[in-house]
Amino acid sequence: MTYSYVSHLQCPVCQTQYDTEHIHQLCACGSPLLVEYNLEQLKQQVKREDIQQRNPDLWRYHELLPVSSSEHVVTLGEGMTPLLHLPTLGERYGINHLYMKDESLVPSGSFKARGAAVGVSKALELGVEEFAMPTNGNAGAAWALYAARAGIRATIVMPQDAPQITRSEVALAGASLFLVDGLISDAGKMVAEKVKQDGVYDASTLKEPYRIEGKKTMGLEIAEQLGWQMPDVILYPTGGGVGLIGIHKALKELQQLGWISGTLPRLVAVQAEGCAPIVKAWEKRQERSEFWEQSTTIAFGINVPKALGDFLVLRALYETDGVGIAISDAELLEVQREVASLEGSFVCPEGAATFAAARKLAADGWIKPDETVVVLNTGAGIKYPDTVQTEAPLLQIGDSIVGR
Ligand SMILES: *Cc1c(COP(=O)(O)O)cnc(C)c1O
Ligand SMILES: [Zn+2]
Repeated sequence: MTYSYVSHLQCPVCQTQYDTEHIHQLCACGSPLLVEYNLEQLKQQVKREDIQQRNPDLWRYHELLPVSSSEHVVTLGEGMTPLLHLPTLGERYGINHLYMKDESLVPSGSFKARGAAVGVSKALELGVEEFAMPTNGNAGAAWALYAARAGIRATIVMPQDAPQITRSEVALAGASLFLVDGLISDAGKMVAEKVKQDGVYDASTLKEPYRIEGKKTMGLEIAEQLGWQMPDVILYPTGGGVGLIGIHKALKELQQLGWISGTLPRLVAVQAEGCAPIVKAWEKRQERSEFWEQSTTIAFGINVPKALGDFLVLRALYETDGVGIAISDAELLEVQREVASLEGSFVCPEGAATFAAARKLAADGWIKPDETVVVLNTGAGIKYPDTVQTEAPLLQIGDSIVGR
């Protein structure tokens, strides 16, 4: 039994190939590298029914993951999150088949655990002993925790106003934590210098090719959970865009395997009005985005002023007839409350943005009432307790609430 059908790394810009037995970061041309698989062979030897018998975690798709041996798998049980039908909200939005892929239920409370599980496992397989990475919080938290489990040393640099809880996760996991008075892009420069001078592995978004493979499993799961039928639309809160690139890659691989048929869903990149470089580039039909000056949003995970993989996100939108759409912080806070009060789910601000986008696109007629729509809730709302303001009467002992 072949554990992984991984073949090689390939540059999506200049097509240069690299092996997956040695450490490679970016292509010599500066582009991120993507993992390629022996899909023809896989198609002959594995059936989608084989997968359905396996454990409910993302390693059920190990043939389509880059880790060559199960010995190197570092897992906390991540993956196979619920795909929840939301009838009440769907009725309000005019979307009859509205589903939420709920990533609040993975270890560390955000879908970043998927990228970390696969990224750290592959790093272990490659013999990495130490890595460094910049983060807006959740990725650093997830990578620090998986690194602890793998016995790999980690250095994490994050903006000082990143969610407090993510600092605690990194610190508790025993990683070296640095806070920077600036943005993730500033943290990135510090990491780049450390990588160059200290020779540690660079785990920055898309500078190692494997985290995308972990995030890709969201696409694999959506397909499997819908009985290998494609939804019409998938909405994703886009920062670095790795999840969206990953979902697109996953669906194309499934198509090549013949496990799904028909047209791919229209992919929607949802950003915040205070940081919408991809949306702006999409509106102008550009190939790449431009650095977004003074970016700001309470949806911290999508505060990425310039993504290394922007051209791959934009390609995914153009290829699937998708769109880019920006949501204001006020809107996403309102929708966060709407989702919790109507469906009982406390979604994260980034996830709330995808709901707001679905609402808008349905109102515009871009989403039709009978289409099947999947929104990604990328993390747990309870990771960001300070984004919600609550008011409640304070009682003294002896007060009564009868009839109130
Ligand atoms: C990182 C993050 C995102 C954005 O993910 P990308 O794949 O980098 O675009 C969205 N939501 C949350 C909660 C995140 O932590
Ligand atoms: Zn290249």
